[in-house]
Amino acid sequence: MLEKQSPFSGLELLGASHHLPEYTLAHDSRPSLKKLYQAYDQLSLHDWQKSKPIYWQTITLDQQTFKVPIHSYAVPSLDDRKPFDLILISGIHGTEPAGPVALAGNIPLLVNIGKRMRVLMVPLTNAYGYVLNKRYGSKGESVGDSTHWFNHKVKPVCSEAKDLTNFFYQLYWQGLIGPGTMAIDYHEDLSGDGAGLQSLDEDKLAHLLASTYFYAAGRDIQHPFVSKTADILQAETGFLIPSAQTLAGEEIMGGRVLNSHDASLDDFLARICKLQLVITPEQWLHSPEEPGLEQRKTVYTTHLESLLL
Ligand SMILES: [Zn+2]
Repeated sequence: MLEKQSPFSGLELLGASHHLPEYTLAHDSRPSLKKLYQAYDQLSLHDWQKSKPIYWQTITLDQQTFKVPIHSYAVPSLDDRKPFDLILISGIHGTEPAGPVALAGNIPLLVNIGKRMRVLMVPLTNAYGYVLNKRYGSKGESVGDSTHWFNHKVKPVCSEAKDLTNFFYQLYWQGLIGPGTMAIDYHEDLSGDGAGLQSLDEDKLAHLLASTYFYAAGRDIQHPFVSKTADILQAETGFLIPSAQTLAGEEIMGGRVLNSHDASLDDFLARICKLQLVITPEQWLHSPEEPGLEQRKTVYTTHLESLLL
């Protein structure tokens, strides 16, 4: 049974500094977890609310153990109980840092967006994977798996997946997210890392700096933000994949996969929480540093800026 209590009722303000890792095991230029959290916490200076931890993850790094909270941030305050216009999610897969890094590097942009619309953000859903450079969470399972919501015979694959879906379901049940809400969930597609593309000539892509595609789901996949996302990704990376198949067998047409029923968190937001639109951008990576993280961060910064300002 879900509690009706708001996840924001135990508001934590700036200053609740946890002991956080100051480096990662990744060989790219990603900032430390401490730096990311310091950046997100700056939102508290601009009237954003930080939630109680949605869940905690335990990270062991060179024999040091860290207990790390996963928070959401929201603006404006929830006092008037109106639904959110926008949900921003990133960092579900720890080997896909562009989303969390882009959000941390663009606090003034987020503040600006938050002046125009009601925003709820969970910028780093898998701190464990981010620090240890692992795709999945601490139980070796995806924190963004929602299979248990579509097949009642199965248990949640891990406590993170259970807590993350419950967090959003609670907001849905309270009328704080729903048919008027759009979500963007920033991913990347690292070739050979449990995801990827098939029926795509990777040699042909090798000369390209970047290539992209995205998922769109929800009640309104005709929404102008779908074609706008295609235009932005095409302009920014120079290559929106015209047609291919993902390893899961989904068809990419014109750079997009429409209404994928993959029992992911995005599928959950689209079908269970009945969101207006859920967009999941993907940047296809040749290797963890190709294209470089700075460039991939710019792609998502431009997407946010061009779509929402
Ligand atoms: Zn991913």
